[in-house]
Amino acid sequence: MTTLPLIALPTDGLSGCYIDGGWRRPADGRTLGVENPSRREPLAEVGRGGLAEVDLAVAAARRAFPAWSALAASERGRRLIGLADLLDEHAEEVARLLAAETGNAIRSQSRAETAGAAAVLRYFGGVAVEQKGETLPLGPGLFSFTTREPVGVVGSIIPWNSPLQLGAVKISMALATGNTLVLKPAEDAPLAVLRLAELATGLFPPGVLNVVTGVGEEAGAAIAGHPGVDKVSFTGSAEAGHLVAHAAAERLVPVTLELGGKSPCIVFPDAAAPDRVEATAQGIVNAMRFGRQGQSCTAGSRLFVHADVWDALMPRVVGIVEAMTVGDALDPEVDIGAVINAERYGEIRAYVAEAEALGATFLTGSTPAPVDEAAGYWPVPTVLAGIDNSWRIAREEVFGPVMVAIPWTDEASMIEMANDTHYGLAAFVFGHDLDSVIRVCGHLEAGWIWVNEGGGQIPGMSYGGVKQSGLGREYSIEGALDNYTTRKSVTIKIDRP
Ligand code: NAD
Repeated sequence: MTTLPLIALPTDGLSGCYIDGGWRRPADGRTLGVENPSRREPLAEVGRGGLAEVDLAVAAARRAFPAWSALAASERGRRLIGLADLLDEHAEEVARLLAAETGNAIRSQSRAETAGAAAVLRYFGGVAVEQKGETLPLGPGLFSFTTREPVGVVGSIIPWNSPLQLGAVKISMALATGNTLVLKPAEDAPLAVLRLAELATGLFPPGVLNVVTGVGEEAGAAIAGHPGVDKVSFTGSAEAGHLVAHAAAERLVPVTLELGGKSPCIVFPDAAAPDRVEATAQGIVNAMRFGRQGQSCTAGSRLFVHADVWDALMPRVVGIVEAMTVGDALDPEVDIGAVINAERYGEIRAYVAEAEALGATFLTGSTPAPVDEAAGYWPVPTVLAGIDNSWRIAREEVFGPVMVAIPWTDEASMIEMANDTHYGLAAFVFGHDLDSVIRVCGHLEAGWIWVNEGGGQIPGMSYGGVKQSGLGREYSIEGALDNYTTRKSVTIKIDRP
């Protein structure tokens, strides 16, 4: 294996949580190992925080809240932009750390995620001043206005697949709106978020941003159920999301949920015309997030191709997938890195093996072999045909580089299949007839749709799901105002109007 330069790790935080502006080792001294999934080597040990650390972090956040919420919104925004600048300055170092812990290829993914995290911080820094209220025309004798006030201490929990981007979203949305934050990164990938917190030292007063590392059932559950947490924002699986929502409901605090997806990717015949077929094929590969091992909530993992253009399009899609190289995420030549851990690798393997046994055919790829002891958790990019839409592989989130392709002829039946899942996060449509595109977008049960590109999240474009994909919207000032502030109405009787 190529020897690659060392990656920089947070200097002082490796066995601590970031609480009240400094590093604190968990009271019971427990740690969690973080592995590099590309090499199956230990990467770091971080603190395994629990209720004691969440208690400390919530208390620090509560102490910091009055001064932080009283600060001018423009000043809060300036500091978020300051963090974006620092992240840009340290971009290569942070991107390497991210690639090492997530297995997401440095070339195509981890550098872009680092730049995306800075863009999110900068966007919310800029729009922080938009926390505006309204006045009501009640006639002479009454003056009524509304304000948007921060909710208090926000508890946020994030997964491992885009930890820096999601960490930046949670930090930005909470802090821009005047809240303070206790953030729990995932056990598999906490390092880039710890490094971001370290970079933020000096920009935010102690206690404004706290990071508690640990496992979901301990630190995560402690945040979701903590009496000092005024709002919960969760990104992760639907299963854990339900538990978090229950805990928040017990205390009657608001909750935002960004959960899984099984997104359809729909192709109309005109998108496969000779002058467009290559761009459409590339867009489909991007939408499936093959470059991220398919480990994306938005992955367009169900491809519905009009039967008339199947033969023209599918070989192009397969050609692009087969040209992608799989390997060490830190290797600058690699397109597809490693699956996060052995458990996920095994789950992907089981989904594909089941589909194969049911009679699916491989347009490319195969059922992955058992994990190779000598290599990382390197997946097999796979496109399957001969699928029945009722099979698990077509309905459940595989969270691996596995796309199922299904031909269609009748639009109404295709839409029915596309919506026949309990998820409703994203959708992708490839087509150039405006009537068809608008009609289909209107029928799709999804919170977020890209047309003619397999695009990603853009700061300012509200993001979130319907059905079991979640509650609430993030990534935009509207989402921040709706989900991270509370509206207060004030009505004044005026004696001498
Ligand atoms: P996960 O639900 O297992 O874990 C996510 C986070 O929740 C982790 O920090 C984990 O420690 C914590 N957690 C787990 N159990 C918990 C509990 N009982 N109480 C509190 N916290 C708990 O999900 P994952 O496997 O890490 O991530 C993959 C999932 O995340 C996929 O379903 C993916 O679609 C989803 N996801 C959604 C979005 C989105 O924006 N909609 C973005 C990225 C990932």
